[in-house]
Amino acid sequence: MQFCPTCANLLLVEEAGQSVRFFCPTCPFVYNINHNITRNALLQKKRVDDVFGGKDAWKNAQQTETKCPKCEHNKAYFMQLQIRSADEPMTTFLRCAECGHNWRED
Ligand SMILES: [Zn+2]
Ligand SMILES: [Zn+2]
Repeated sequence: MQFCPTCANLLLVEEAGQSVRFFCPTCPFVYNINHNITRNALLQKKRVDDVFGGKDAWKNAQQTETKCPKCEHNKAYFMQLQIRSADEPMTTFLRCAECGHNWRED
């Protein structure tokens, strides 16, 4: 596990083009990792995927009519999660019913 040096929150992992980077969900901290360096980062990325992109996570999600930014299909699953501190609004995660693209709305 990696923690943010500025606010001590748990860092998440995302792919940015060819590389992988840690990013802090609550502040602008970003740490680029050479994508060859560490299996750990990939494992951690997988865990993040399991939370937001795993099949089970979306199994009971409701559908809404919204346009996929990738394929322009007009139905997507959505769920709301509290990923920041408790006094901030929920973040809405969407997943295209057609192509499986994930995106989010704050
Ligand atoms: Zn931070
Ligand atoms: Zn789509």
